[in-house]
Amino acid sequence: MNNRDSELIGGMLAEKGYEIVEEEKDADVILFNTCSVRQHAEDRVTGNLRKLAARKKKDPDLRIGVLGCMAQRHQDLLLKEFPQVDIVVGPSNIYDIPDLLAKTDTTEKLLAVNNKKRPGKKIEADQRSGVFSAFVNIMYGCNNFCSYCIVPHVRGREVSRPKKNILNEIKGLVDRGFKEVTLLGQNVNSYGKGLTNKITFQELLEAVNDIEGLRRIRFTTSHPKDARKGLFRAIKELPKVCEHLHLPLQSGSDKILDLMNRKYKYEDYKEKIALLREMVPDVGLSTDIIIGFPSEKERDFEATERAMEEIAWNSAFIFKYSPRPPAVSSFLKDDVPEEVKKERNTGLLNLQKRISLAKNKTMIGSEQEVLV
Ligand code: SAH
Ligand code: SF4
Repeated sequence: MNNRDSELIGGMLAEKGYEIVEEEKDADVILFNTCSVRQHAEDRVTGNLRKLAARKKKDPDLRIGVLGCMAQRHQDLLLKEFPQVDIVVGPSNIYDIPDLLAKTDTTEKLLAVNNKKRPGKKIEADQRSGVFSAFVNIMYGCNNFCSYCIVPHVRGREVSRPKKNILNEIKGLVDRGFKEVTLLGQNVNSYGKGLTNKITFQELLEAVNDIEGLRRIRFTTSHPKDARKGLFRAIKELPKVCEHLHLPLQSGSDKILDLMNRKYKYEDYKEKIALLREMVPDVGLSTDIIIGFPSEKERDFEATERAMEEIAWNSAFIFKYSPRPPAVSSFLKDDVPEEVKKERNTGLLNLQKRISLAKNKTMIGSEQEVLV
């Protein structure tokens, strides 16, 4: 999602005559499009800002901006403790960036963090970092409030883009030679809620599938509480939809899932995967796992290890828990010691490597369709 926002920002600035340079030292404007999902990402931004302080002193014309989720979350801190920063812009305000940058000569510091619904806007000089595969936003924000997650707090409530805008964007991409799109949303399964023209995610997939010249459709992310037979049928029946589902489990322990406010149990997840595999036998599966959530005991972690063996995803992203105030779990004690988090993290990574390798080996000699 941030990659896509960066493309949009690049496009808007290109319209104003800015150019991307290869080396940081050659830039007159440096913008950080930030992520707040884990502390580590924020620490890298503050580290980079500190490094730039000296250069800004020597070169007061240098413009520095902090954009995205961290701008939303830490607006006061950024304004007070980082005098080198000129603009602070939240994810709902990205269209204000060119105007704010133009005003930095007259005003000391500029802030745009209204956290309202992001307005729709077509960027004429739309930039894409790839040439055959592109990200396409289908919705913004999230209504789920998983207890550990900062996203709803910084990206606001869920809003779907109208089908027409999405289809036009994809048709434009196909005209430019793109072959594959990845539809983006925090919870794509709830696409369409709140739109005046009623539509489900499956219906959107059908409409995208009908676009001539497009070869492949991917999407991310699905939520296990909402992924159902209708979605699995779309994966099975729509020829352009890739046979892959990224379905974050987060934990194999029902106690932890409940504390995470995920609204499903491990057995529900397992049943859904069994149904999907029955309908699409060779489906590729991936997941996200958080280890070290507050009160995660050895038996909870073992449940996650068991889930990994049982489901046998093709790949898994494994994250160490990171408290994100004001997300609800940040009020629980972060009581799993760092060494234990590290140990569990390494344990799961090794287990997943073994499973991925075994899965990959079963594909040797098979015939697959690939995008070169
Ligand atoms: N909307 C998507 C993606 C959310 S962020 C979804 O629901 O899957 C991507 C992943 O980051 C999450 O799936 C989760 O595994 C991880 N994550 C989110 N908040 C986290 C936190 N506080 N600590 C560690 N990992 C986190
Ligand atoms: Fe965060 Fe949960 Fe929403 Fe994903 S579904 S963005 S994890 S609150």
